[in-house]
Amino acid sequence: MSSFDPADPLGIDDLLDPEDLAVRDTVRNWAADRVLPHVAEWYEKGELPGVRELARELGAMGALGMSLKGYGCAGASAVQYGLACLELEAADSGIRSLVSVQGSLAMYAIHRFGSEEQKQTWLPRMAAGEVIGCFGLTEPDHGSDPASMRTHAKRDGADWVLNGRKMWITNGSVAGVAVVWAQTEEGVRGFVVPTDSPGFSAPEITHKWSLRASVTSELVLDDVRLPGDAVLPEVTGLRGPLSCLTHARYGIVWGAMGAARSCFEAAVEYAKSREQFGRPIGGFQLTQAKLADMAVELHKGILLAHHLGRRMDAGRLRPEQVSFGKLNNVREAIDICRTARTILGANGISLEYPVMRHATNLESVLTYEGTVEMHQLVLGKALTGIDAFR
Ligand SMILES: Cc1cc2nc3c(=O)[nH]c(=O)nc-3n(C[C@H](O)[C@H](O)[C@H](O)COP(=O)(O)OP(=O)(O)OC[C@H]3O[C@@H](n4cnc5c(N)ncnc54)[C@H](O)[C@@H]3O)c2cc1C
Repeated sequence: MSSFDPADPLGIDDLLDPEDLAVRDTVRNWAADRVLPHVAEWYEKGELPGVRELARELGAMGALGMSLKGYGCAGASAVQYGLACLELEAADSGIRSLVSVQGSLAMYAIHRFGSEEQKQTWLPRMAAGEVIGCFGLTEPDHGSDPASMRTHAKRDGADWVLNGRKMWITNGSVAGVAVVWAQTEEGVRGFVVPTDSPGFSAPEITHKWSLRASVTSELVLDDVRLPGDAVLPEVTGLRGPLSCLTHARYGIVWGAMGAARSCFEAAVEYAKSREQFGRPIGGFQLTQAKLADMAVELHKGILLAHHLGRRMDAGRLRPEQVSFGKLNNVREAIDICRTARTILGANGISLEYPVMRHATNLESVLTYEGTVEMHQLVLGKALTGIDAFR
């Protein structure tokens, strides 16, 4: 029988094939080299310097639009994409957000609902990280209920004219292209908006205490005139943005466990070396109970992510199952990070350790891509058949 591995107590690695492990190691090594040495400083300053260079490196690694096929995308499996999300978020949720928004929201929308011309124009450059994309759904007054959005697009001759405001948009002010959802006479439609279009601006949102190493912006659309073929032709209605969100939420199911793993590892290391009352704090039963509970939830969460990944690869993953995973894994990840914070005592609040950074990042992850309550309502509806959203 193989020996017990504290880093993989359930033997989940046995479920991965050599290609999966190679993807995981490549992304882990990249993050160790390019993100971890700097991220505390970026976080403290509230900036993501060199984001364009990072995007190009992520593109060269095949991490952008990773599970999409063709158009310069890597065509990786859903499990491999998930492993990449986990490794990126083990470094920082901001880097994983950059990749999720690029690949699972902006590129996915164009790949799934775009015209051939839109795909050829944008996807290869986005896969290479030469163009950064953003995804504008949320508005200042409409978050959980996007059906009430006010941003609208009106036809004017052959053109479309867009007006409105989007809020909390990841990558907004560094994006070269924005996928913007707007009301039209036919229902909600998606528009591919080059960010140099006259009337478009993306002021950056500052004073954030979470996801500080991530660009978050408003999008202002003031009579933005677009050609008739700027609309995503293959979808009308909220089904469009919601299916993109399902894809991105799937990545979060994995990613949250990366943040949790980082905090768990920091807590174990600290517990083994920090002495109080003449012995390592890891030798006290109360600390061991915390570590055992953290390990149980961490590896259950990774197992759940892997299960959902297999279902996605088999084309059998339902949105309700993604809600199940997002609800559980982000909630448990926050709990793991907060418990790790207690084990590190006062050092737990210092940026010298990753714990508080991950814990505060996860507050955003808990809210974006559907709040806890939205996923509870999705599951509640699936379990009872009764819609309790309104
Ligand atoms: C850092 C960051 C990055 C983001 N990036 C993006 C992005 O790239 N693109 C994008 O479009 N959006 C993005 N968002 C926005 C995010 O998706 C929204 O914040 C989220 O959907 C919640 O909307 P809201 O903040 O308006 O909260 P609200 O919808 O106002 O909700 C406030 C509270 O009320 C609860 N609530 C609402 N309705 C109900 C109900 N029916 N029953 C019970 N409780 C309810 C919610 O669960 C929540 O607890 C980002 C957010 C953050 C913080």
